[in-house]
Amino acid sequence: MKTFTTRSQIRQYLNAQGAAKVGFVPTMGALHNGHISLITQAKQANDVTVCSIFVNPTQFNDPKDLEKYPRPIEADKAKLELAGCDILFNPGVSDMYDDNEQWHLDIGPMEQLLEGEFRPGHYQGVTQVVFKLLDIVKPTNLYMGQKDYQQFMIVSRMVELLNIPVNMVMCPIERETDGLAMSSRNIHLTPADREHSLVLSKTLNWVKNNFDANNIEVLQQQAMEKMASINDVVPEYFRIVDGKTLLPANTNTQSIVALTAARVGKTRLIDNVLIK
Ligand code: AMP
Repeated sequence: MKTFTTRSQIRQYLNAQGAAKVGFVPTMGALHNGHISLITQAKQANDVTVCSIFVNPTQFNDPKDLEKYPRPIEADKAKLELAGCDILFNPGVSDMYDDNEQWHLDIGPMEQLLEGEFRPGHYQGVTQVVFKLLDIVKPTNLYMGQKDYQQFMIVSRMVELLNIPVNMVMCPIERETDGLAMSSRNIHLTPADREHSLVLSKTLNWVKNNFDANNIEVLQQQAMEKMASINDVVPEYFRIVDGKTLLPANTNTQSIVALTAARVGKTRLIDNVLIK
């Protein structure tokens, strides 16, 4: 695997290679099998697979969260080698941003919903960095996880609005055997938190199995109560929404997703399930 830390180096290399199909997997590192499943999927459909590892400061609204974000770069490189990734792009903050860079994209009201309500400015940071990364890598296919469902929809909207020539591929959520969605943040869970964290996936499955389009409000309320009943779990939201607009679902909605975020001990977790 080739590793590059500056935009010009990776661009030069990709230009020289002239691959017909480039698959791209942007990450913040601390790689787990969820990330690796994206690499595997990219490898199957592209001539060259590029992974980026960049802990993007502009998408963190909590400086403590940014500071404690895990950065095990050597272990990550070994996992990417094993997965057969061709190129790692691992820039520093000064390679990606000028001092005091002050701009953002506004892709519309979707970025204010759900995560946007609880993490103001988060998606402006996401679109800013993904825009820059797409401009550098110029991939044919962009692989992102359903785990961050809203992020996928927001990046898709940016790609559509700015007419960026890339094909978006949503990859399924990889879970631990007991149902917890894999996440780089899971390493912060204490053994007790780890046990309590199961309430997210269990509640999502319960809602999926008991879904009734006439009782969406009631289901949301019951889901919040189920999660809040577990020690050290503080649910932030549980919403059943239109899978395309992320606005509240109703009896006529064609594609429906349930999304949740909760604090488990000191760790904030998100998860979701496709209902129909
Ligand atoms: P992150 O490093 O958390 O920014 O994630 C990088 C990419 O991996 C994003 O597209 C995520 O949606 C995806 N991802 C994270 N966790 C999982 C998972 N458990 N299963 C599948 N994809 C995931």
